[in-house]
Amino acid sequence: MELRLHRVSAAALLRTLADRWLPRTCALCDCTLGADEPGLCDACADALPGRLRPRCPRCGMPAQAQPARGAPDHSPADHSPAAGPFDAASCRSRLPECCRACRAAPASFERTLVLADYAPPLDRLIQALKFRGELALAGALGARMAPLAAAAAHIDALVPVPLAPRRIAERGFNQSAAICAAIARACRLPVAAGLLARRRETPAQSTLALAARQANLADAFVSVPAAAGLRLAVVDDVMTTGATLQAAASALKAAGARSVVNLVAARTA
Ligand SMILES: [Zn+2]
Ligand SMILES: [Zn+2]
Repeated sequence: MELRLHRVSAAALLRTLADRWLPRTCALCDCTLGADEPGLCDACADALPGRLRPRCPRCGMPAQAQPARGAPDHSPADHSPAAGPFDAASCRSRLPECCRACRAAPASFERTLVLADYAPPLDRLIQALKFRGELALAGALGARMAPLAAAAAHIDALVPVPLAPRRIAERGFNQSAAICAAIARACRLPVAAGLLARRRETPAQSTLALAARQANLADAFVSVPAAAGLRLAVVDDVMTTGATLQAAASALKAAGARSVVNLVAARTA
């Protein structure tokens, strides 16, 4: 365990030194980056899968996605999602633009902002960040996600999805917190990690089916009174069923948060 932590730390240190002393290159195509290109070159960032596709404004599901049997129906409503600022009131007025699943049972969060689909090559970057400790990739993803946060207009603070203590011990870092820190730097927004905590250990979500994921996560998070009245953006690396982000938003809303928007690097379709 200790060996693995040391290996991640050493890799992160080398990457930081390399970033400082060597020409910065795109994480995908290895071209030399311009001064205003953070981590990914503009061409690779623009070509990320599903970058500009219409999505349900509430859950971020691609508008043309067809639900698997027994899964929530995310098929499109009558309108493409509108861009621009959000708040609880405008979100209510936009409910007709949402997918059928969101119209039938709106989540506790008001909106989901997505960088791109969880598909090649973005999935490779996220796996390298999570499982090989390539922390510089968090900077690249966060910098490219920052304009999404800026477009949402009303965000008082960013909140990374907390990792279970056991996972932190295994991995040595929280990838969502690393991405969140990069967004915060680029947007000059505060990080309020203390607003959300894991209440208990839960089995790994990837081992469970949809209904079991939701049950697994009910009451998994707890927030604090300091969340009251705040407009928060919850940052995560990958959104799959949305059960984790629903549980996080539910805890923040129970503590009195005024609004919750999800800010995710990748969305599975
Ligand atoms: Zn590139
Ligand atoms: Zn939806």
